[in-house]
Amino acid sequence: MARARIIPVFVPHLGCPNECVFCDQKRISGSPSPASGRDVDAALMQARERGQTGGELAFYGGSFTAVGSALQEELLAAAQPYRDDGTICSIRLSTRPDAVDERTLERLRRYGVRTVELGAQSMFDDVLAANRRGHTAADTARAAALVKAAGLKLVLQMMTGLPGSDRDRDVQTARRIIALAPDGARIYPTVIVKGTALEEMWRAGTYKEHTVSDAVAVCADILPLFEAAGIPVIRLGLNPTEELSAGGAVAGAYHPALGQLVRSEILRRQAAGLLRDVPAGAAVSLGVRPERLADMTGQHRSNIAALTAEFSLGSLAIVPVETAGNGPVLVDVRV
Ligand code: SF4
Repeated sequence: MARARIIPVFVPHLGCPNECVFCDQKRISGSPSPASGRDVDAALMQARERGQTGGELAFYGGSFTAVGSALQEELLAAAQPYRDDGTICSIRLSTRPDAVDERTLERLRRYGVRTVELGAQSMFDDVLAANRRGHTAADTARAAALVKAAGLKLVLQMMTGLPGSDRDRDVQTARRIIALAPDGARIYPTVIVKGTALEEMWRAGTYKEHTVSDAVAVCADILPLFEAAGIPVIRLGLNPTEELSAGGAVAGAYHPALGQLVRSEILRRQAAGLLRDVPAGAAVSLGVRPERLADMTGQHRSNIAALTAEFSLGSLAIVPVETAGNGPVLVDVRV
């Protein structure tokens, strides 16, 4: 999916009838008050003054189609002059699966919305209920089909490590989401945000934290499934914000470079497969494409240390090679 320059406007929690246990939209989006047509105008005016063209206006941070239709129209109408003059060429928004119907989608299309993102989160009804999502997996499947039938691009968002889920169920959720054939996906490992019901559950001991390493392990299972299906994962992990970094994220899978940790883990697993029959004490060179050197090496050379210890290698070098594949190849083994 080609990506235009994004001009974000946050619609925090506005109109959302729910209180999902993990959600504090105000904190997550970093924006304290509901958006209005004026905010849309201001964001797009800035983009125009900077000379930007062909961008994409993105309404994030809440459930766009759960707000009243008058406010939806106000927000969308404010964007129209900027569509007409080419500052933006499309609009995307995120919403809940149970806040989508044919009429709503028709309105979105009329105003130039091209992509609808649905928060699926889990494809298990008991997990959705435990997280007070207020919709079912069938709602997600129905809404996904409606979005596609309306000719709009579909992005599905899922979470890992939610209360009631586990690694296997997260992988199954990914498979069920892939079966809905979205044009893209986002994966958000659960972060415990200050002031949420999830924080209370965690402090009371009824929810076990989904750590960064839990998230890396399950996302390294999931990401290759999306890749094999040709579905781009356009985001992995919450966008870091000042507030989350300054204590808003009290625990859980909050890491500013989560995507890189996951890509490193995938390469570590692939390298482990290559090293299985290498004799202990060998000096090994593994090759990867130049742009993957940092991921293969791992943060603080963690992959080199882990693989060297696991296979009792004498040494392990990572070298750049031009290969057709994305993964590592064995370049040299000396015993
Ligand atoms: S539906 Fe979205 S905005 Fe509403 S509480 Fe849940 S996560 Fe937050």
